Amino acid sequence: MKDWQERDLKYIWHPCSQMKDYEEFPPIIISHGRGAYLFDLEGKPYLDAISSWWVNIFGHGNERINRALKRQVEELEHVIFSHFSHRPAIELAEKLIKIAPSGLNKVFFADNGSSAVEIALKMSFHYHQQVGNSKRTRFAALSNAYHGETLGALSVGDIDLYSRIYRPLLLNTLKIPGPDCFRCPWEKERTNCNVECFSRAEESIKKHSQELCAVIIEPIVQCAAGMKIYPARYLEKLRSLCDREGIHLIADEIAVGFGRTGKMFACEHAKISPDIMCVSKGITGGYLPLSAVLVSEDIYHAFYGDYTELKAFLHSHSYTGNALACACAVETLLMFEEEDVLAQNEKKAYFIGELCRERAKSHPYIGEFRQIGMIAAIELVSNRERKIPFDWTERVGYRIYRLALSKGVILRPLGDVLYFMPPYCIEEKDIEFMIDTAFSSIDEYFRLPGRGHR
Ligand SMILES: *Cc1c(COP(=O)(O)O)cnc(C)c1O
Repeated sequence: MKDWQERDLKYIWHPCSQMKDYEEFPPIIISHGRGAYLFDLEGKPYLDAISSWWVNIFGHGNERINRALKRQVEELEHVIFSHFSHRPAIELAEKLIKIAPSGLNKVFFADNGSSAVEIALKMSFHYHQQVGNSKRTRFAALSNAYHGETLGALSVGDIDLYSRIYRPLLLNTLKIPGPDCFRCPWEKERTNCNVECFSRAEESIKKHSQELCAVIIEPIVQCAAGMKIYPARYLEKLRSLCDREGIHLIADEIAVGFGRTGKMFACEHAKISPDIMCVSKGITGGYLPLSAVLVSEDIYHAFYGDYTELKAFLHSHSYTGNALACACAVETLLMFEEEDVLAQNEKKAYFIGELCRERAKSHPYIGEFRQIGMIAAIELVSNRERKIPFDWTERVGYRIYRLALSKGVILRPLGDVLYFMPPYCIEEKDIEFMIDTAFSSIDEYFRLPGRGHR
């Protein structure tokens, strides 16, 4: 493996990484994957507890998706998607609309999550321009939001680590103080509050209402912020507010869509329909890059007219609606239809909760264990009572990640939030292994001498 690691580092610049770290901790070269496991060149297995950045849902090397992909590659790999189409895209659009929240009935394809967010923002802005709301030029987004890494998407995000340096380049987004259930300023519980925090959003949105095109939100879980879960009532209230103020609601379901939270789409927890919905990540089962922006008829129609009216949405990506990706997505959605995925996940999610809850409760460095469906997170803190985070320069999460990795589990925490977001095909014994390894790595870390925490 060493030779490959050296060759990798000679030319490759890895994403979301300080490359200097790789000098003492070289990249793990993966040869193949099966189910919830990945195997390196020496045959060491790694349990993919984070679904390879939240994309994989039915496991690596999934036989059904493999077959669908092979079938498609014999027919057509790709074709220009402007004025051309193909069966996988058509079937996929039909299936998406069938399962999407009601009112969404047109599908615009792209090839990654950030692009879907860019499209959603452009469409909303463009819509308002075309219907005569020319003063609506801004977007609103929540504190701690994450919507991707391109400049437009970063503009509506609020994770300083990713965006601070680029601030001079970004759009002037209205930042709304969002829910923070773990450190609730009202000292309420997520399960029995009256979403008191919504009043701050309401105030801010109302004040700027006439300037706003849309509010963009990650429904139910702000994943990149550290799997921050908030009550469905918040979404309900936001939907009504947007309706009253004539503002679009954009739901970014890129991470939470396709069953992650226990419902097909997280919006269903609140029984709401957004005006625009972005999906990606799990859509192809984690096989190929693809995204889709689902919109209401009303939005579609604002762009509809004679060519000379110049109303069309002239946005494109070279790989828009790629046929191989669409074929994988169709197979993925067929699996949802044919195999009782959500009910199976409910049992697995329950098992994950059972294994974590008690252990987290008595742990001196765990501030909260939280879970919704197949997303479960452990937030590490230096002081449990006062919920004090660790100094970020200690890189507590990163150190625990490396310990768990040596034991064969890929955790890759978000700061000091460790989380489990495994492929749905994970088996009970692997769930046990995943959670035991996480807890033993946490404990091993805090037992290290000389850190001053004990
Ligand atoms: C991952 C993610 C994105 C960006 O998707 P990419 O394909 O990585 O560009 C946007 N929004 C959310 C909520 C995400 O989790």
